Amino acid sequence: MDKSLLMELMNMEAQQLVSKYKDDLINDLMGLLAIDSVKGEPVKDAPVGEGPKKALEFMIDLGAKAGLPTKTVDNLAGHIEFGGGEGLFGVLGHVDVVPPGKGWTSDPFEPVIRNNEIIARGVQDDKGPTMAAYYALKILHNEGYKFNQRVRLIIGTDEESDWQCTDAYFKSEEMPDAGFSPDAEFPVIHGEKGITSFNIVQSNLDDEYTDSDIELKAFISGERYNMVPESAEAKLKVLTQMSSIIQAYEGFIRKTGNEGSYEIDGGFLKLELSGKSAHGSTPEEGVNAGTELLKFLSEIELDANGSQFVKFAQEYIIGNLTGGQFNMAHHHEEMGNVSVNTGMINYTEVDGGIFGVNLRYPAGLDFDAGIKNLEAMIKESGFAIEDVSDQKPHYVDKNDPLVLTLLESYRKHTDDDREAFTIGGGTYARTLETGVAFGAMFKNTVDTMHQKDERMNIDELMLATVIYLEALYNTCVEK
Ligand SMILES: [Zn+2]
Repeated sequence: MDKSLLMELMNMEAQQLVSKYKDDLINDLMGLLAIDSVKGEPVKDAPVGEGPKKALEFMIDLGAKAGLPTKTVDNLAGHIEFGGGEGLFGVLGHVDVVPPGKGWTSDPFEPVIRNNEIIARGVQDDKGPTMAAYYALKILHNEGYKFNQRVRLIIGTDEESDWQCTDAYFKSEEMPDAGFSPDAEFPVIHGEKGITSFNIVQSNLDDEYTDSDIELKAFISGERYNMVPESAEAKLKVLTQMSSIIQAYEGFIRKTGNEGSYEIDGGFLKLELSGKSAHGSTPEEGVNAGTELLKFLSEIELDANGSQFVKFAQEYIIGNLTGGQFNMAHHHEEMGNVSVNTGMINYTEVDGGIFGVNLRYPAGLDFDAGIKNLEAMIKESGFAIEDVSDQKPHYVDKNDPLVLTLLESYRKHTDDDREAFTIGGGTYARTLETGVAFGAMFKNTVDTMHQKDERMNIDELMLATVIYLEALYNTCVEK
């Protein structure tokens, strides 16, 4: 068939084709949503529990019933294959979900439709988008279009936790030449920062008795690397000058505008401070209660160990949002700056202090060299680095044909002309060598992922399917 004629047909047909399959798509999605696929304890032949395995089988069965080749790997992941030939394109979604939590207006695993929205755990993240992508491929296949390569819909079951699924899958299965993951938002996410976490630990505590009038007994703030701590607490033993410390603290609270309180119990003083939580990838949007309280402690003369802890924080932690104080500042034109969130700060008089750091970095920073250098830098101050984990940055050039084609396919069916962008968080796309995240949230979609009453508008579900069909037609169909 003439190429331009086929393109024309496609223009008209994409939406018509998808609407022809609307009822089937919704039916299958409702079936998938009815499976409680929260990660569970490993049992025989189900390494992440029965629920995720059942959801995987549900998808694989759809493919098998449609007469397509399928494969599962360790009951953790699998694929449905379309087309044939040398090349391989991957579409990567997941069918595990996070626990539903409380406050739902209907059963999270009995999907219902209200106001043209499907409400169920996982409908937005990521069962709805995965089903949309499956139908895009299935429609092209059913309607007789010929793929110019193999296309695999790859389904994982451990995305929300440990990514055992993709680890296992890509150990034995071929890495696609290119692909996308429908597990985020439109238009296209073409870069994701490297994500690291590490602990900075006070390593040489002074065991000798110090006769300071004020001793730091304990400090606690934050529970997770990837969140800005919203509260902090310090416990001091105060031998003299209790009232002047309290006065200073009240002054500090007034001056900084933070919310704080204190409690006196015998010779002990407990200070509490509130900040503002934010995601660890955007520490500048929060107020770190821990580092704020440390600022106050730096105005007080503490015992030797407490003072070493606070002095270290002054030099390396407080105000260090872009890595400069670690000597790891780096800027990438598209991916932006290094970000540093100190998500956990703890101190006890017995064990000393520990800072739990979540550092994210754009392409171009040598993190391994940076962390080695930091380790050497802080040794003098009596601190060491432990428990380093590092996921490398993921970056696909903005002008890569994959990015351009997906963007064009998206724009054809929307009036949103935003460019492809990069983020500080991580998406499933990073498990692909040349992969980007592509949908399925639109510009004005309310993000209900991981929340109660998770929902997806049916028109948006259909539109996402149209866009995936368009994109797969443009990348993988013989013209
Ligand atoms: Zn997801």
